[in-house]
Amino acid sequence: MKKKKINEIFYSLQGEGMHTGTPAVFVRFSGCNLHCPFCDTRHEEGIWMSNEEIVEAVKRHPCRFVILTGGEPSLQIDEDLLHRLHDAGRYICIETNGTHPLPAGIDWVTCSPKGDAPVMLEKIDEVKVVYTGQDVETYHKQLKADHYSLQPCSGLNTAETVAYVLAHPWWRLSLQTHKLIDIR
Ligand code: SF4
Repeated sequence: MKKKKINEIFYSLQGEGMHTGTPAVFVRFSGCNLHCPFCDTRHEEGIWMSNEEIVEAVKRHPCRFVILTGGEPSLQIDEDLLHRLHDAGRYICIETNGTHPLPAGIDWVTCSPKGDAPVMLEKIDEVKVVYTGQDVETYHKQLKADHYSLQPCSGLNTAETVAYVLAHPWWRLSLQTHKLIDIR
């Protein structure tokens, strides 16, 4: 099975979205097919790891939740990795830009669409959008999901985001709580 380029694996609390506050192991993949100017992943950094090595690193931590994130994890993950994580008793979440199809078997899909890049996903649990004043109703209309989370951009437009959610109550506010309490 092909090795994956992993930026980092760490244990913390999920800071954003519907699972805010949940202990989780983050598996951050390097590399993405988009080039967002605000991207905070250093895609050039990372080490190549086998699926076995990734799962062993995940199993060093006591929690059930695993969050595959990036970068864009869908470019590298495969069913073998998902099977191994499930065999280890883990609940698998992914944070994806939605532009690449996903293998079957992911328990929770969070899609953060970017601009007008087409979304290819069949099932989305949560749409999570960083609000910069753009038209987000297109995402709400086009992407079928159980939850819609709107997040201020680096905490700079929180009041504007709160006002938007109050006026469009199918969204809920998501804060980067890990930054508020100064954890990763
Ligand atoms: S989609 Fe995400 S990982 Fe990819 S460039 Fe944009 S912010 Fe970075």
